[in-house]
Amino acid sequence: MAAQSNNGKNQEVENVYTRSSEQGHRIPGQATILVVDDEKAMRDSCCRALTYDGYRAETAEDGDSGLQKIREVKPDLVLVDLKMPGMSGMELLEKIGDIDPNIVSVVITGYATVESTVEATKRNAYDVLAKPFTPKQLRDVVKRGLAQLIDRKKVAAQLIDGKAVAKRVKEEVKKEIVKLKEKHKSFPLLLAVQVGENPASAAYLKSQRKGCEEVGIDYQVQQLPQEVSEEELIQFIKEKNQDGKTTGIILQMPLPQQIDAEKVQEAIDPLKDVEGVNPQNMGLLMYGWPGLAPCTALAVMELIKSTGTCIKGKQVTLVGHSSLVGKPLALLLLSSPFDSATTTVCHIATRDLTAHTRRAEILIVAVGKPGLIKGDMIKEGAIVIDVGINRVEGKIVGDVVFEEAKEKASLITPVPGGVGPVTTAMLLKNTIEAWKMQLNPDVRWSKKWKLT
Ligand code: NAD
Repeated sequence: MAAQSNNGKNQEVENVYTRSSEQGHRIPGQATILVVDDEKAMRDSCCRALTYDGYRAETAEDGDSGLQKIREVKPDLVLVDLKMPGMSGMELLEKIGDIDPNIVSVVITGYATVESTVEATKRNAYDVLAKPFTPKQLRDVVKRGLAQLIDRKKVAAQLIDGKAVAKRVKEEVKKEIVKLKEKHKSFPLLLAVQVGENPASAAYLKSQRKGCEEVGIDYQVQQLPQEVSEEELIQFIKEKNQDGKTTGIILQMPLPQQIDAEKVQEAIDPLKDVEGVNPQNMGLLMYGWPGLAPCTALAVMELIKSTGTCIKGKQVTLVGHSSLVGKPLALLLLSSPFDSATTTVCHIATRDLTAHTRRAEILIVAVGKPGLIKGDMIKEGAIVIDVGINRVEGKIVGDVVFEEAKEKASLITPVPGGVGPVTTAMLLKNTIEAWKMQLNPDVRWSKKWKLT
């Protein structure tokens, strides 16, 4: 569990949460502690100790009223009893995280076991205080918890919130769809083509369907047998190219061995190629002409834009040069005639990777190797975009060592919750761009990319 904090940190807590004699009134800098416990004697004794220390103390007698209080008083720290009638402390911990992950939760329980401590930690509990405890033990855990809150808030201020960016993009897409449906009396339909079955792509299909439903795009999945031949799959795609109702086609990966993915991608009508993987779309990207670019590359550009940073002339180092992420992203970073970034592309054969990453004002990493980018490889104050998705000991992590990187970066994307959600939102945006080009093919030749 949490380590005892040093004196410096405690001093910081004292400074931020100054003591107050105006009990019951929230004053700037005064921390609010909520005690959720069904035992009145426990609530009262905690309250006494906390108000004596100058905190604003609030109480609730069960999980439901605790949740209501959290919404009303927005506490900095919550003391949660595990065993309560109705909603259990464990459930409450989970819900606190949904309301505000920065709130520090401390479990107070007379039944602390290793299992319950592990369970509580999984639900973001900061510490477990076994009952009965002394006022000093309570004071110590609260002080350490509030120091943790300062750290969490500092990190939160540094995060580039992919979920918020995705939400904004989806709202824009939704509004545009309403207008286009009204004007053209037609609607977009995204078709996902899946060959065989794969648990990973099942999760992706689910999130595609959810995204489409949110913004008003019709969504269909066409499942083809595992043994389908390349010719049959290409034939199927060509039929859908001719189908007036299907406005977007997405080919689910992975494909079975007998199929060359690139050949099938080439068969998708470039105007329906919502993933931007058709060679024609890649070529248009090269020229900086309107077309459909790969969603992850677009997502990275959108995330950079969301920080308010202008890429013009900036030293951007991109680690990873795949056809799906690195190369198209390099082209997007270079797409403006006058406002491009100074772009360095690194890859597996790059010598002295650190020399390139340390120069970067914006560092983008898309490799698929956890722990590749360490803190000492990052320039002080850099913006770090971590595209990597890796599973390590059951957890999803990126390519960047987050704990080290946050000490150097001014802004950083979390994994999960950074590039991933925006990639899904850009798929929806591409679906609308594809539909617009089908409604009015002249759009394609009417303007240059406007991405920076
Ligand atoms: P890829 O395997 O096609 O390409 C990997 C790239 O990393 C290559 O350019 C390779 O040369 C480079 N590389 C490998 N080892 C290196 C090293 N030691 N030093 C420097 N460069 C090295 O992978 P990809 O499809 O581009 O995906 C990269 C990562 O991004 C993966 O983790 C993938 O899961 C993730 N990804 C995330 C999203 C998202 O939406 N967040 C989308 C696509 C891919």
